[in-house]
Amino acid sequence: MGDSAFALDLNDDQKEIREWIHGFAADVIRPAAAEWDEREETPWPVIQEAAKIGLYSLDFYAQQFFDPTGLGIAMTMEELFWGDAGIALSIVGTGLAAVGVLANGTEEQIGTWVPQMYGTPDDVQVAAFCSSEPDAGSDVSAMRTRAVYDEAKDEWVLNGTKTWATNGGIANIHVVVAVVDPELGSKGHASFIVPPGTPGLSQGQKFKKHGIRASHTAEVVLEDVRVPGSCLLGGKEKLDERLARTRERAKQGGERVKNAAMATFEASRPAVGAQAVGIARAAYEVALDYAKDRVQFGRPIIDNQGIAFQLADMRTRIDAARLLVWRASWMAAAGRPFESAEGSMSKLYAGETAKTVTAQAMQILGGNGYTREYPVERMHRDAAIYTIFEGTSEIQRLVIARTVSGSPIR
Ligand SMILES: Cc1cc2nc3c(=O)[nH]c(=O)nc-3n(C[C@H](O)[C@H](O)[C@H](O)COP(=O)(O)OP(=O)(O)OC[C@H]3O[C@@H](n4cnc5c(N)ncnc54)[C@H](O)[C@@H]3O)c2cc1C
Repeated sequence: MGDSAFALDLNDDQKEIREWIHGFAADVIRPAAAEWDEREETPWPVIQEAAKIGLYSLDFYAQQFFDPTGLGIAMTMEELFWGDAGIALSIVGTGLAAVGVLANGTEEQIGTWVPQMYGTPDDVQVAAFCSSEPDAGSDVSAMRTRAVYDEAKDEWVLNGTKTWATNGGIANIHVVVAVVDPELGSKGHASFIVPPGTPGLSQGQKFKKHGIRASHTAEVVLEDVRVPGSCLLGGKEKLDERLARTRERAKQGGERVKNAAMATFEASRPAVGAQAVGIARAAYEVALDYAKDRVQFGRPIIDNQGIAFQLADMRTRIDAARLLVWRASWMAAAGRPFESAEGSMSKLYAGETAKTVTAQAMQILGGNGYTREYPVERMHRDAAIYTIFEGTSEIQRLVIARTVSGSPIR
């Protein structure tokens, strides 16, 4: 392909992988979706099935993560979440913690901890990324969990309460963001690995949720949790340098410096957008089939413009959302900076699309759409999280508005 060529086609390898994931989503995830939604439990047997075929493994995600076109992860997410969002999040939730280590860890830390997050097909494990706190959701700078260095023992001591952690408490490895210098606000944060079985880490409340109910969400309590110095992601020397630089810049009037949690979110936003695209596409397909079958007033309901135009809008929005996700994914892989917050744009638009399209799908199914006999009410409940987690829609708008205007919009 010449330099001037432009293509949005997936290559043959990608098409093959997509078919394979789609098969798993259709044959294994979908049939299990309603059951695990009702049980509100982590679907371990499905994760094990995924591990057996290599779909839940570091190798697979690393291969997709480093796909030079950037589309590997986007494609994977869309297909898995087309199957079912709650189960798919149980499969990919570990990835957020893995990205936390990839974004901030040394090569040695990545090699030591990331494989353990997945375990093996015979002993499957999950990992958790713990940033949010009861008083620090959108406002990460309000974080209170504290990490204090015990120089004599070369250990860090963590204390605090994390909340909303996907896989929190059931994970073998927790990646915890904590305050190391309270005077620097969100720039005084660092990320730590809490290894399996570390005393002092416990699960608090497990939340009963509106949607994605197969995905475990819980508080994580840290009481005098001691981790070795080597568990500070990036290492002490790099942290000390970064803190010194930040203090210096703060003195000179405060230049913006990225913090550890933000680096994780930036890398994961297009992937989260792709999840929302998968849910929206699933609901759209159900609605399209239903509208062709359902007869009222002597003709299929799709023969009414009122229904057909809605389906046209749904499909258009889904395709637009996917294009934004693919653009941001491609930019990230090509090393282009998100100068207009393209990652946030993709997550904002895809999340809002999933919520809107799943609501339209419920409406097209009428009374059936409102029951658990059909999957669209579950898809609508699942979609609702996509305007909330990984930065709410309002926060995405704030990021986009600040980036494109350069103004300190509040
Ligand atoms: C199911 C689930 C899974 C999650 N998984 C994880 C996880 O694995 N790890 C993790 O660390 N976190 C996780 N989260 C946390 C999630 O990222 C937060 O819920 C999210 O960042 C919002 O924070 P909050 O809930 O405290 O809402 P708040 O920040 O209190 O926001 C409340 C409302 O105010 C709005 N708002 C806040 N500030 C502004 C502003 N400046 N301008 C305009 N509007 C504003 C928000 O948009 C929102 O509508 C999860 C949450 C859920 C529900």
